[in-house]
Amino acid sequence: MTDIDVDKCHITHYPANVLTGPAQPVEKIDETVRRLVAKMTDLMIEHKGVGFAAPQAGVPLRLFIISLDGTKEKVRVYINPVVKPEGNLVQNEEGCLSVPGVYAKIKRFGKATVTATDLEGKSFTEQADGLYARALQHEFDHIEGVTIVNRMPTVARIAYRKQLKKLEEEQIENG
Ligand SMILES: [Zn+2]
Repeated sequence: MTDIDVDKCHITHYPANVLTGPAQPVEKIDETVRRLVAKMTDLMIEHKGVGFAAPQAGVPLRLFIISLDGTKEKVRVYINPVVKPEGNLVQNEEGCLSVPGVYAKIKRFGKATVTATDLEGKSFTEQADGLYARALQHEFDHIEGVTIVNRMPTVARIAYRKQLKKLEEEQIENG
C-alpha cells in the first residue's frame, strides 16, 4: 500500500465504498503508515472524535486510533487489531464522523478484549469496558465494513431517513 496519497486523505462519508467492505491487513509499518496515522489523528481531533479508522480517511487498511478524551496526547494506535466482545449487551447513543448528523442508540457488548500491534511494531493485548469497549467495537466495525447505519434500530433509521438520503445523494454527486 505505497500508493496512499496521505496529503489527499479526507473524511469519507456513508455510503462510500471504502466504508462498506472489509479492509486489508497492514503488511509493513513504514513511513506511509506513520504519516497516515498522523493525518488520521489530525482529522479526528479537528472533528472532535474519540476514534477513527483508516477507511474513514479513504484508506482500506486494518488500522484505527482511539483517544477517549479526544486529545492528541492520549491517541493510541491499533494495527491489524482483533476485538473480541464479551459480557452483556448495553445500549447507548453513538455518532460517527462518517455519518454526520446521525446519533442513534446502538447495542454493544459491555466488555471487549483487543489484541493489536502498535506503531513501534509491538504486539499488545488489553481488556476494556465502558466507553473504551464501545469505541473498540465501533472502530473494529469500520475495518470490517460495518457502520452505525447497519447497526441502528429501525426506528432510528426512520427518524434519520432524510439525513441518510441526503448523504446518499451527496455520494452520488461526488462519484
Ligand atoms: Zn465511526
